[in-house]
Amino acid sequence: MLYNSTRDKSIHLKASEAVLKGLSDDGGLFVPESFPRLDRSLTELSQLDYNGLAYEVMKLFLDDYTEEELKDCIKKAYGDNFDDPDIAPLSYVDGSYYLELFHGPTIAFKDMALQILPHLLTTAAKKNGLNDEIVILTATSGDTGKAAMAGFADVPGTRIMVFYPEGGVSDVQRLQMVTQKGDNVSAVSVDGNFDDCQTGVKQIFNDREFKKELKDRGFCFSSANSINIGRLVPQIVYYVHAYCTLLSNEKIKDGDRINICVPTGNFGNILAAYLAKQAGVPIDKLICASNINNVLTDFFHTGVYDRKREFNLTMSPSMDILISSNLERLIYFISDRDDKATASFMSDLSEKGSYEITEKMKENLSDFLAGYSTEEDTASEIRRIYEDTGYIIDTHTSVASSVANRLKAGGQISEDEPLIIASTASPYKFARSIVGAIKGGTDAVSGSDLDMIDSLISLSDMPEPPATKEIRHADIRHDGHIAISEMKDTVRSFLKA
Ligand SMILES: *Cc1c(COP(=O)(O)O)cnc(C)c1O
Repeated sequence: MLYNSTRDKSIHLKASEAVLKGLSDDGGLFVPESFPRLDRSLTELSQLDYNGLAYEVMKLFLDDYTEEELKDCIKKAYGDNFDDPDIAPLSYVDGSYYLELFHGPTIAFKDMALQILPHLLTTAAKKNGLNDEIVILTATSGDTGKAAMAGFADVPGTRIMVFYPEGGVSDVQRLQMVTQKGDNVSAVSVDGNFDDCQTGVKQIFNDREFKKELKDRGFCFSSANSINIGRLVPQIVYYVHAYCTLLSNEKIKDGDRINICVPTGNFGNILAAYLAKQAGVPIDKLICASNINNVLTDFFHTGVYDRKREFNLTMSPSMDILISSNLERLIYFISDRDDKATASFMSDLSEKGSYEITEKMKENLSDFLAGYSTEEDTASEIRRIYEDTGYIIDTHTSVASSVANRLKAGGQISEDEPLIIASTASPYKFARSIVGAIKGGTDAVSGSDLDMIDSLISLSDMPEPPATKEIRHADIRHDGHIAISEMKDTVRSFLKA
């Protein structure tokens, strides 16, 4: 199994090389040259635990890793760092199955990939004779930074430095980052906004002289962003796991179809579900749910991707995105792997801000449905489910839930097929919005972030997760605060340590 670039099919890399490289030099994303199929039946696979299944799925995509290497990565990633032994349990509530992807150390679904990526990366480095220490630099508006820190913490052969905008993240997000343990991690706040942090990191990545200086000292840069196939592949596993769980609980028979709805931002999570379908999981519809930044809803309805529109801040911030990078992979697939066409759509996107796919490509989108949820829809869905069942969903999950239930009511998805809703964050991660949605009124949400967590504890049956318990008393380990112009020197001195 080799990987091509979406913008140049003549590129052929082994899986471990694609993991190491992240992004292709031509700006394209790496894709498997054909869709691998599961080589054991779903009935057989449903006998396995999460880690056993993870191996069966990931071996198809990462086939130059040995069995021992891959199993070792999986074992290090999914264990008692998760607060549920099932890793990704299903909760049946309100007529749907919520696939809980938030039982990892930072209580959001990014953990599912970022707990294993560091191991896939260091294994890939070893396999390819790269002896440098891998340095991850990340700009974050809150969540990804912490999830990446937690993943790389104390992984030998790696260091990670995270830049976040001073005053631009929530109290809980800041506390989560500044208390992160590990000798190889650092978080620094920057006098600037998220874009300044992002631009600073990009400049460092593009600074050849600096890269050479660090290379001479035995360091090489890498990024942990969501376009790496080392993040995409682990996400396929939990969709297969969800199907297997329904099978082993006798909710379905092997071959019965299910529907999956995913709250979507960068299009990574739902693309993993698409790859699960291509691998042979009987998935009927993939439902792409957006908030009012609904560029993807319009794309699926009209075939036009147009980022020239207002950007809105919502209560589902991880979905506040106007350029969904991973969509490029779907564009490549639905164009029947036309690299030239994909490259030209992407250049239209960056130069003109939009592109329109062909009629033929539109026909290839029949696996997908799409919809969006307004802020009001999102809040009222949280409240309705809480009042009807006592179960509390997070704001991102609520976007998906509200879209899926609307499609169900409209007859666009079959009532007879089980519906799986990807539940991407613990409600404790977004306590303020959730308390606001359930209780209403400004009084309820006037306290600190920790007050909001306390309010949620009193509403919910769900025990407080270790992630928020910890930050109440943990020591502050990272108190650096710098000007934008100091980012490079800060990296330099971090690497001297
Ligand atoms: C990142 C994230 C999403 C969006 O996932 P994509 O793979 O970017 O589409 C949704 N919900 C939460 C909580 C997230 O952190």
